[in-house]
Amino acid sequence: MACLPGFVWRLKQEIMNTITLKPGKEKSLLRRHPWVYATGVDTVEGRCEPGSTVIVRAADGRFLARGAYSPSSQIRVRVWSFDENEPVDHAMFKRRVSSALAHRKQWVKDSDAVRLIFGESDRLPGLIVDYYGSGANGQLVCQFNAAGVEAWKDALVQALVKETGCPNVYERSDAAVREREGLPLVTGVLAGAEPDPELNVTEHGVRYYVDVKSGHKTGFYVDQRDNRKLVGDLANGREVLNCFCYTGGFSLAALRGGATSVTSIDSSGEALKTAAGNVTLNGFDPERATWLDADVFKSLRQFRADGRQFDLIVLDPPKFAPSAQHIDRAARAYKEINLVGLQLLRPGGLLFTYSCSGAISMELFQKIVAGAATDARADARILRRLSAGTDHPMLAAFPEGEYLKGLLLEKI
Ligand code: SAH
Repeated sequence: MACLPGFVWRLKQEIMNTITLKPGKEKSLLRRHPWVYATGVDTVEGRCEPGSTVIVRAADGRFLARGAYSPSSQIRVRVWSFDENEPVDHAMFKRRVSSALAHRKQWVKDSDAVRLIFGESDRLPGLIVDYYGSGANGQLVCQFNAAGVEAWKDALVQALVKETGCPNVYERSDAAVREREGLPLVTGVLAGAEPDPELNVTEHGVRYYVDVKSGHKTGFYVDQRDNRKLVGDLANGREVLNCFCYTGGFSLAALRGGATSVTSIDSSGEALKTAAGNVTLNGFDPERATWLDADVFKSLRQFRADGRQFDLIVLDPPKFAPSAQHIDRAARAYKEINLVGLQLLRPGGLLFTYSCSGAISMELFQKIVAGAATDARADARILRRLSAGTDHPMLAAFPEGEYLKGLLLEKI
């Protein structure tokens, strides 16, 4: 009963907090797209603080959704629920986490590194949670990237701990997107113990260290799990080049798959140290692995000048296009690495090439790679279109959720 006044207060706020849209601006919400842009808002009533729950109404007063208010962002409201009878409370967050967990249990096999919450796709806009290990020794790592999930942080942490049985939660809210929400960058323990500095996960039989506190993002690129497996399955007897290798995700998969040698390039010395540690952790022969602390663009040109050739090349660069304004420059960069990559492949060689830029569609990416093949004077078959794993589901009404796309090509 002690929490009743708080509960009543929240309900009252919710009744008072109303966003009314301009005429016609309700259409995307009726299609269940979970964002309201600032340009669509007509009036704001009530005491709307950052992260406050608001009711969104059409110009004619119809209920459209409940969402979280974000006064500093162009995405002014992120929708929690389209169901008028679903209040935004602790129970809702528990249901969301429970549903996300059930999906992963069903779909992610052979790995204890899983994206447990993928923002809008799990109807928790702005929240990213990766789950390493499991149960009492597991580690949850969160990014709270929007005002709504920031305001409900305690409830979300409680729900995560309760549903997973994992007591350790670490926050890595140090992504630049926080600034667009008017939120400071923060990191630290939210529940349980400090992350284990020796934390490692096993993905399709390969072990990887995960540096939760200072690695990129949440420490590990969980999204490439299925693609690393595919590289492992096709690496036997091949000379492999892995560009933008980070902690050696694809390199280790290729070593396990029987690659004769793996050359890996990254500009982060720290990541490369972890990568070399991963070779020892798996008991692989370090003689088969070469780690180059270098710029990929320069190294590729140097390899071409030296007449180097490979049988399997991975290109998994960082996001070259952070937004639509950067598409042209990004397209030139993607084209350059794919062009030289194709030139470095022997006939019959395989190219795994990726873009994690949300602003670049699969169609455009395929055009860029096709253009690179033309300029490289190479014929290549597209064997597969690739994407992130099933723990990064795309909500049908939210195509923006598809950021990682890739192609597997075979040079003829
Ligand atoms: N394939 C990796 C993830 C790659 S993330 C995995 O499966 O884990 C992109 C990586 O590119 C980062 O490690 C970053 O340090 C590196 N990077 C960014 N720009 C680079 C450049 N110009 N040359 C070399 N590495 C670069």
